[in-house]
Formats: sequence, structure tokens, C-alpha cells
Amino acid sequence: MTEPLVQVRDLRVHFPLRRGTLTGPRPVVRAVDGVSFDVHRGETLALVGESGCGKSTTGRATLRLTEATHGSIRFDGAELTGLRGRRLRAARRRMQMVFQDPYSSLDPRMRVGAAIREPLTIHGLADGAAATARVGELLDAVGLPRAAADRYPHEFSGGQRQRIAIARAIAVEPSFLVCDEPISALDVSVQAQVVNLFEDLQERFGLTYLFIAHDLAVVRHIAHRVAVMYLGQIVETLSRDDLYERPLHPYTKSLISAVPRPNPVEERSRERIILTGDVPSPANPPTGCRFHTRCPFARDRCRTEAPPLTPATGGHEVACHYWTDLGPSAPPIDLKEHP
Ligand code: SF4
Repeated sequence: MTEPLVQVRDLRVHFPLRRGTLTGPRPVVRAVDGVSFDVHRGETLALVGESGCGKSTTGRATLRLTEATHGSIRFDGAELTGLRGRRLRAARRRMQMVFQDPYSSLDPRMRVGAAIREPLTIHGLADGAAATARVGELLDAVGLPRAAADRYPHEFSGGQRQRIAIARAIAVEPSFLVCDEPISALDVSVQAQVVNLFEDLQERFGLTYLFIAHDLAVVRHIAHRVAVMYLGQIVETLSRDDLYERPLHPYTKSLISAVPRPNPVEERSRERIILTGDVPSPANPPTGCRFHTRCPFARDRCRTEAPPLTPATGGHEVACHYWTDLGPSAPPIDLKEHP
């Protein structure tokens, strides 16, 4: 494994609520609450979990698009927290974001060529004929015709617009992309094409991805490692294959148990771990293990003592007091059987 390009330690993003009680302290939403992870060079780390678990806020805070309340973010050996002005802009050039909705991330009044050219100008990387040539190269790289430069975003399909947004993101030659559910707004028929594009670009330009997703089938294709989030915290990190074959944390197991098996025999014998209750509010998370209100295996200790994320078998890190008792998930899923 290479030296990490990105190292995040004890990241917290707390948003104060507007109104509190008259006497008590102002309540806060603990959107991200003590998250640590590494992303290695050329690697794709997928961040998965239910909607509202803090995945997107973690991605935005890693790029300093949302200010962290606490923690350390190191990029290529340099601390990002505390950077301001020109030094922050220079660091940001190497870290870009691809958003879920490509239409909202593109100015509808700006031609595609101008949209891709804009970051080149802002960062002083190219102008004039050199910038025009670079726009052509970028359109080639994302599989769009060069003539697209003269058209407007609304003239393209959702998948093509995401390609334009990707061309704009890689225009400044970043090393690291945070991809925030970049295919979930696209038609299923084009999702695989855009996933393939991300993979091609990673190989070609040596890109490193933090890939935020809730669709585990997508994660299976693109991720090298996976971090599973629940209520603002990472509860397990593991390899892509182990996500399907050997999850250790009860929450990870429940996510995997919800994935339909393509093999009808396996599908009939699939054991679902059904979680009861709603996800608690991040403004008032449960004491102890945050998952204890929904965990089918919770015991007394879980209600009072928070389990730290610690190294576990198979290179996993897991935050559960009883992972050794619970063992790996059964039955494993045969990845070759998946479409
Ligand atoms: Fe479940 Fe307890 Fe493990 Fe939390 S620590 S995941 S409540 S068994």
C-alpha cells in the first residue's frame, strides 16, 4: 500500500441549531462526529451509508468546502485546516469535487467550452489558443465530441452533462476527486458508462477518489476499499470484496443482507437483517454505541460505552464491542454471480 494522499483524523462538523432551550446550551447537529480515514494514491475509497449519515458533509469538509469544527485534514503531507487565501486556492486546485446533479453544477448560460475553460483561467494554467486546445483534449478524455464546446448544457443528456462536469473538474489536473453520488441522478442505462469513465480517468491520470455512494452495486465496481458510516461516524472499513463476503459490523451486515442475490437459490435462502426503528437524530445521538437502538445484537454495555474503531481480522477496522462473538456474515455472496 502506498503512502496516503489524504489523511483525515477526528473530523467533526457540528452545525448549531438556530433555536435552543431558554436555559440550556444551544443544541448542535453532529453531522460528522470523529471521522478518521486515509485515501491512498490511486485508490478509490467508497464512503457508504444511509441518507443523512454524514457522507456528503465528510466529503465537503475534506475539501474545505464546509468548515470543520475540529480535526486534521492532511493532503500530500500538508495540513489543510488553517490554510487561507492563495495557499488554500493552490491546494484546492489539486482537489476537486464532482456533484450528484451535473445540471446544478454547470452555469446554464455558459457554453460548455467556456465552462471547462473557466478553471484554467482562474488558476492561470492556460489562455488563448492553448486553453482552446486543452478544452478539446478534455472533451476527448470524457468521450464527448469537440463540437460540444459551442453548445449549452441543456442541449445534453444527464450522462453527457456529468461528463462535462467531470471534464471541468479534471481541467486543473487534480490528484484527488471527491465524487458525491455522481451517478445516482442518472438513468440506469448510462450509470455504468459513467462509472467506466471514472475508472478510465483514474488509470490514465493516476487519480485518487473518495467516492460517496449509497448503491452497493456501484461500490462493488469502483471501490478498492469501503468505509461504512452510521450517524456521523465510521463503523467499519474493509476491502471491497470483504464488504460482500466478510462484513463484521452488524450495520454493514444489515446493508449487505438487503442486496438481492442474482442466483435464485441463494436469493431464496437469503437471510435479511431487518433493522427496526428510525435512524436517530444527529442532534441527539444515542449514548454508547450509536447503533444500539437498532442493533439486533445490542447488550447492556452497548448502551453506555462507545466502541472505538479498532483493527480487526482481515485488515478491517470495526467499531463494535462484540464483533469477535458475532463472526462474519453468512452466507457469503459470490461476486462472480452478480451481473
Ligand atoms: Fe451492536 Fe453493541 Fe456492536 Fe454496537 S457495540 S454494533 S450495539 S453489538
